[in-house]
Amino acid sequence: MGELERTRGFGLDYAPAPESAAVVSLAPSYGLFVGGEFVDPLSDAAFTTVNPATEEPLAEVAAAGAADVDRAVRAARAAFTGAWRDMPGPERAKYLYRIARLIQERSREFAVLETLDGGKPIKESRDVDVPLAAAHFFHHAGWADKLGYAFPGRRPAPLGVAGQVIPWNFPLLMAAWKLAPALACGNTVVLKPAETTPLTALLLGEVLQQAELPPGVVNIVTGAGATGAAVVGHGDVDKIAFTGSTAVGKGIQAALAGTGTRLTLELGGKAANIVFDDAALDQAVEGVVNGIYFNQGHVCCAGSRLLVQETVAELFVDKLKRRIATLRVGDPLDKNTDVGAINSAAQLERIAALVQAGVDEGAELYQPPCELPDRGYFFRPTVFTGVAQSHRVAREEIFGPVLSVLTFRTAEEAVAKANNTRYGLSAGVWTEKGSRILWMVERLRAGVVWANTFNRFDPASPFGGYKESGFGREGGLHGLAAYCSLEPVPV
Ligand code: NDP
Repeated sequence: MGELERTRGFGLDYAPAPESAAVVSLAPSYGLFVGGEFVDPLSDAAFTTVNPATEEPLAEVAAAGAADVDRAVRAARAAFTGAWRDMPGPERAKYLYRIARLIQERSREFAVLETLDGGKPIKESRDVDVPLAAAHFFHHAGWADKLGYAFPGRRPAPLGVAGQVIPWNFPLLMAAWKLAPALACGNTVVLKPAETTPLTALLLGEVLQQAELPPGVVNIVTGAGATGAAVVGHGDVDKIAFTGSTAVGKGIQAALAGTGTRLTLELGGKAANIVFDDAALDQAVEGVVNGIYFNQGHVCCAGSRLLVQETVAELFVDKLKRRIATLRVGDPLDKNTDVGAINSAAQLERIAALVQAGVDEGAELYQPPCELPDRGYFFRPTVFTGVAQSHRVAREEIFGPVLSVLTFRTAEEAVAKANNTRYGLSAGVWTEKGSRILWMVERLRAGVVWANTFNRFDPASPFGGYKESGFGREGGLHGLAAYCSLEPVPV
């Protein structure tokens, strides 16, 4: 009898613990945030954003066209030359501190809205997304008045207007990752949130008004891919920062080639989470679960390939399956929910198609017998065993709650398999031996390697990839450097 059946059999199921949505007051429709004001779009176009857990519409949101993007870039340019570029660092820092504190003050509202619009469990938006977003502004506020000391021998200067295009998996957090370093360094911004999750970026617009950020320093243009393409293709943007799929990232790189526009790309991943037989196995099970089922697996650095040493593979997979059977899938607003809603119908379709490919190619599928809600976009936590490196589920980014299990015998084999991917964003190593961790870290081609933990983020720690996971870093000094020109100081 599995854990789930056992608790159910004894009537020990959880009572519902829903977070109230009353803290959020949704407007029926939203305009664009340009020049410090919410304005109607020149395009006159709009789209509906829905709650993926219920499929119910939440609000109408303006779809910015090329003329709207142009208006936003002009506002950003005027704010750059008019106020922000030349403002002393300590003054800029005050705005960033204010934004950080306002995010904290309104954290419940942000968390509930993030969950409503994106489908992630409230415990994650409340305990991870929103606190980390505030931490990013705090951290970069601390840099704004110390830039002169950040890069010895170099004189940092802002680049100008940054166009920033962000995805739907961490909408507020990605906005914070992009905005905070750009503003700290004296740049102004045109931000394009993802079509399925625009609402927390727009709430952030309200916070920017509350913080009395000078008009035009941040402009938010909502819309679909075409709006992002208009930001990228606008001739008067000095830097593009993009997080999203490798396919779109490649297109952006091609579009900007030869223009002199600075570019950083944070793209997909297919990370290996590597478990050696001397690891604390129960702890590693938790790390593997967190690595792939956190945020429904909609995580670019998700540990979507488990590489487990053959000597413990059977035992480990058994423990893992038992643990997965206890995951609670369902209402994202319920505080007990572990796995919420898939972000959109299109993403659900993509996940289902790749899982079907795994079955067709002969991998063995395991899904716990959990009930899924009648409405909304949900997918059971899934494990594939008997996976070969050639299988699509071992090669392609699924961006869903799907884990592929492979085995290895030696550390050399683990490295070879871990690196056998076109991506290189992250990896995890689970072992008791410190020397083995160092040996592995030297050889893994991944921007971030976590040891005996997974999915840890900190604004002081640079994050980014190799190969088709992109280039450039976000966070830490490397992330700051991506928003400055660094001229040598004449001696
Ligand atoms: P996209 O790369 O299409 O979306 C990322 C952002 O780019 C969104 O704001 C999107 O707008 C925008 N965009 C789309 N097309 C263009 C374009 N031509 N020029 C400029 N901006 C554009 O990702 P998807 O949402 O389509 O997801 C597809 C797959 O990508 C996922 O299954 C996953 O594998 C991967 N992905 C990876 C992410 C990561 O963090 N590395 C994040 C998101 C997705 P809009 O949303 O309105 O289309």
